[in-house]
Amino acid sequence: MWIQIGKKKLKTKKDGDKVDLAEQSLLNKLIRHSLVRNRNQVEVLQRDPTSPLYSVKTFEELRLKPDLLKGVYNMGFNRPSRIQENALPMMLAQPPQNLIAQSQSGTGKTAAFSLAMLSHVNPANKWTQCLCIAPTYELALQIGQVIEQMGKYCPDVKLAYGIRGNRMERGIKLQEQIVIGTPGTVLDWCTKYRLIEPKKITMFVLDEADVMIATQGHRDQSIRIHRQLTKDCQMLLFSATFEDSVWRFAEQVVPDPNIIRLKREEETLDTIKQFYVVCKEKEDKFTALCNLYGSLTIAQAMIFCHTRKMAACGEMTVEQRASVIERYRNGKEKVLVTTNVCSRGIDVEQVSLVVNFDLPVDMDGNADNETYLHRIGRTGRFGRRGFAVNMVDSKHSMDIINQIEMHFNRRITKLDTSDLEEME
Ligand code: ADP
Repeated sequence: MWIQIGKKKLKTKKDGDKVDLAEQSLLNKLIRHSLVRNRNQVEVLQRDPTSPLYSVKTFEELRLKPDLLKGVYNMGFNRPSRIQENALPMMLAQPPQNLIAQSQSGTGKTAAFSLAMLSHVNPANKWTQCLCIAPTYELALQIGQVIEQMGKYCPDVKLAYGIRGNRMERGIKLQEQIVIGTPGTVLDWCTKYRLIEPKKITMFVLDEADVMIATQGHRDQSIRIHRQLTKDCQMLLFSATFEDSVWRFAEQVVPDPNIIRLKREEETLDTIKQFYVVCKEKEDKFTALCNLYGSLTIAQAMIFCHTRKMAACGEMTVEQRASVIERYRNGKEKVLVTTNVCSRGIDVEQVSLVVNFDLPVDMDGNADNETYLHRIGRTGRFGRRGFAVNMVDSKHSMDIINQIEMHFNRRITKLDTSDLEEME
């Protein structure tokens, strides 16, 4: 059966659609059950280079409360992830240290700061001590779930959700030690409703900084929350990417930071055989696709189109898309038609055929090499072999193929879909 995903174009640069980073991030979270593989070294930049650099290989070394350690093991975590090895001791250090951490989604950031918050609070104190903000309602809920699960054996630690719809009585003070929410509601809780005393917050976590600052309102609200806090409050900021704008924001929010970075693993085209198919008209692309699919023994294929109309899918919620991807990942579906880059959440190493039904182009109509690499590239040297087939239906798309060939210095071979022996 053929299935389709893609409600919005998440990274269409062509028609100016807004890149929906938050949705992409949520989708990643929903479909991820384990850490992503990353063999790169963690880069650590210490605020005080003379102080010893601690890293831990086990959770025991962190001297956590036994109930918390039990919660961590109960989640199936055996040892700290790459980023956690360095981030955890830093976040738990005394006196408190500020941290900016960047690593791609799936490397264990959320688990790390959830652990830090649970470890930080004093359950005997019935007021809010840790404040965590995330860009959207759904992302805040996701983090909350991790905290609840990890804190399962710490019944005295309570969590409140500062998200829309969660109405609170004015004038009372929250007793929950941890509050997780979105900037707007959290700001209201701090200033308008005074449910939280910002001066009593001793740990502030800002997650998904890159997604946060993509919305001006969130950025401003985050800064207004931050201004209410004391100088002694420990500041922790996390981001999956690190453009200059994120960096400037991070420096504004986190004074004297330690910095931890884990670079993405490089993707390579070395193990990919690349082809192109010439189609006279758009309709011929469908025929070519059917020939291709019909005559090959393909484990799994992924097909990229530009537009939602082309992928012919109706409106799907993020949850529906996540479940479709889940089915695909489990091998219940063989073909995934997608309009966007959300498929980055899928380990392409299991996909044997990637079809660019429409070639990736940037706003100016030039080859979008980065997207091309993300669609078909494999990480590391051990990625399984794969095939990529590009549909060419105009002189313009032929030019793009040539640009891609030149850029990566890898041959893209012409393929006749009525004679597919070359591929086998
Ligand atoms: P990020 O916030 O960087 O996207 P998460 O903290 O959500 O990453 O972790 C990604 C996935 O890996 C989650 O399914 C999480 O439960 C799991 N995970 C996190 N830390 C560990 C660990 N130390 N050992 C095993 N799995 C982990």
